[in-house]
Amino acid sequence: MQIDYLLIGQGISGTCLSWELQKAGQSVLVIDAPNPRSASKVASGIINPVTGRRIVKTWMIDDLMPWAWEAYGEMGRALHIDCIAQKDIIDCFATPQMRLAFTDRYEKDPQYLALPAAENDQRDYLQYDFGYGIIHPCYWIDLAGLLHHYRRRLLQNGQLLEATFDIAQLQVKEDEVQYQHITARKIIFCDGVTGFTNPFFRALPWGANKGEVLLVEIPGFPDKHIYKKGYSLVPWKENIFWLGSTYLWEFDNDDPTPGFYQFAKNWLQLTVKMPFTIADHLAALRPATLERRPFIGLHPVHGAVGIFNGMGTKGCSLAPWFARQMVRLLVDNVPVQAEADVQRFKRILSRS
Ligand SMILES: Cc1cc2nc3c(=O)[nH]c(=O)nc-3n(C[C@H](O)[C@H](O)[C@H](O)COP(=O)(O)OP(=O)(O)OC[C@H]3O[C@@H](n4cnc5c(N)ncnc54)[C@H](O)[C@@H]3O)c2cc1C
Repeated sequence: MQIDYLLIGQGISGTCLSWELQKAGQSVLVIDAPNPRSASKVASGIINPVTGRRIVKTWMIDDLMPWAWEAYGEMGRALHIDCIAQKDIIDCFATPQMRLAFTDRYEKDPQYLALPAAENDQRDYLQYDFGYGIIHPCYWIDLAGLLHHYRRRLLQNGQLLEATFDIAQLQVKEDEVQYQHITARKIIFCDGVTGFTNPFFRALPWGANKGEVLLVEIPGFPDKHIYKKGYSLVPWKENIFWLGSTYLWEFDNDDPTPGFYQFAKNWLQLTVKMPFTIADHLAALRPATLERRPFIGLHPVHGAVGIFNGMGTKGCSLAPWFARQMVRLLVDNVPVQAEADVQRFKRILSRS
């Protein structure tokens, strides 16, 4: 079998990259081992334009948001699904200081922020003491729906191999790679946290980050907005809400913990004024990087080997944007923007 690109992984990274490659007329084969605990399967799917206690704009968000709206809209139309929706965040202030920080920021730069007309209007179903602000627009990506329908399309087209890729069987030549019966011009690793041990890229400054989540059934709870009060409560499927998440750089393993379960249950009891049932408890590692910037591009020594990884906490907004850049690199030889280009680690990668 002869193809242009062999991709390893069909999380949001492999999905966006394989989509863009095909749009550019390139043939692809994706190898993915189904993993219910991958980051893309556990993520909430939010694109939030602001971050942190100081409510600053996230990196490149003015470019990323319109791009994401276009890209997910286009994929959704091709797959006959809606995979992007606007769901603004009701940001409940946990303390008077947080209220002050929000109103200060709103006065200085109101882009993406608003104040409610009547700040008691959420009290029938939510407990909050210091009012709330609104973050908008925010987008929600239906990752489960998108990944499922896109996978089905790949399978129907004979473009997906459901298997674990074994790197020991990969032969890398100067201008092609060979894997079992597959010959490809290049192999691109979109393999999430498996990338941390990939012999071609393990020397990069990775930083695994663990997140835990509850899926909670709350019949009748409003599903138009995302609610945030420390944790976020995100409408997920009918009557099911995603509650999370932790953000840990240090942990013993990637399993769900009883500590988080109890903490999140207490949060629900104190915050949600409607009956709820905990349906599931999940955990996953985010493929984060110490610099908080992705790793995109080709290996400086092995030109037939590439990487599309390191999306960290922001795969939903970064993957569509950098998929286009990666394709321009592969097809037209246009360099990836410097902050994300893996060539910034040329010396480290050339030594290893
Ligand atoms: C709790 C939590 C909440 C999050 N919330 C958000 C959010 O709201 N918004 C946001 O933008 N991001 C969020 N993220 C981050 C987001 O999940 C990641 O940035 C993104 O999913 C990374 O996608 P990926 O495709 O690079 O990796 P992954 O999703 O890990 O996909 C990698 C794929 O490669 C496959 N694979 C790996 N190795 C092999 C192999 N050897 N053979 C075959 N297949 C292989 C895996 O099975 C998997 O399917 C969250 C993450 C977590 C954990």
